[in-house]
Amino acid sequence: MYQDLQVIDFHSHFPTSRPWFEGMGEDWRKDYVERVGERRAQIAREQAMAYNREWRLAWDFPPPEQEHPGDEVQGDRWAAEIERYGLRAVAFVTGGGNDHLASIIARHPRKFIGFAHHYPFGEEAAAELSRAVTDLGLRGYKLLAPALDRPIEDPAAYPVWEMCAELDIPVLIHFGIMGSGGGIAWHENINPLKLHNVAKDFPDVTFVVPHFGCAWVRETLQLCWACRNVCIDTSGSNQWIRWVEGDLTIKQLFRKYMETIGPERIIFGSDSSWFPRGFAIRYLQDQIRDTRDLGLSHDQLQLIFGGNAARLFKLNLADEA
Ligand SMILES: [Zn+2]
Repeated sequence: MYQDLQVIDFHSHFPTSRPWFEGMGEDWRKDYVERVGERRAQIAREQAMAYNREWRLAWDFPPPEQEHPGDEVQGDRWAAEIERYGLRAVAFVTGGGNDHLASIIARHPRKFIGFAHHYPFGEEAAAELSRAVTDLGLRGYKLLAPALDRPIEDPAAYPVWEMCAELDIPVLIHFGIMGSGGGIAWHENINPLKLHNVAKDFPDVTFVVPHFGCAWVRETLQLCWACRNVCIDTSGSNQWIRWVEGDLTIKQLFRKYMETIGPERIIFGSDSSWFPRGFAIRYLQDQIRDTRDLGLSHDQLQLIFGGNAARLFKLNLADEA
């Protein structure tokens, strides 16, 4: 327990030594280098590093360690983080491909949950999802819409949505700015309303839009209004909040989403990944404070910080980790 809550982190990234985009078929970072050349890519990397440093200083986060100790050690370190903070479980939305992430989950099956993460438009995509869930034990499907090379509503992905319905798994799809400073801010799939027709066609599939809509609050709220099968997650620093109109705060976002979609569709995530930071406890602390300040009941907090994730992953919160 953390305070009086069973906490599940719905959205973290396993800090693997493998490429995050393993299994996606397309690697936008590699494509970028091929398009602009190594010299320009290096300039862009240095520019991005300046943003990242400013962001880390603002949050007082340590820089990511440069040496990678190997994925088994990383897995054990993550399990220790879960013990340290009394979390129920952490879900990793990426982790070096489906087989690799499944092997990490298998080391700590009571504490770790994994999402399948592979290219949705290929002919084998639905079969791969079925294998990832049924054989490998993964419990959701994750996509980064601005990293795809086709519109999210492309009919080629419909067999995958059909499979999500059949397997009854949640689908987490990132929209809006992607990556850290210097990342992507424009793409044909940047706007979460792009999901409208897919979400309408599959009302039996739960779609989760991360980071409170990642600067597309108006659009995400409209999407949630149009499609009751759309939820949001609260993960990350949500630094985008500085760039939207008004002096918006995370607390106001909680209030706005509570008014529109209620506690059953708001899901806590941290977007943690690297060490030595480990689990980004500060996001959990800040969000618990904000929701308590708003006067949410214990039952509402429990839904947001663990109950909704447990429902989507079919975990019994009564079972101790
Ligand atoms: Zn993330």
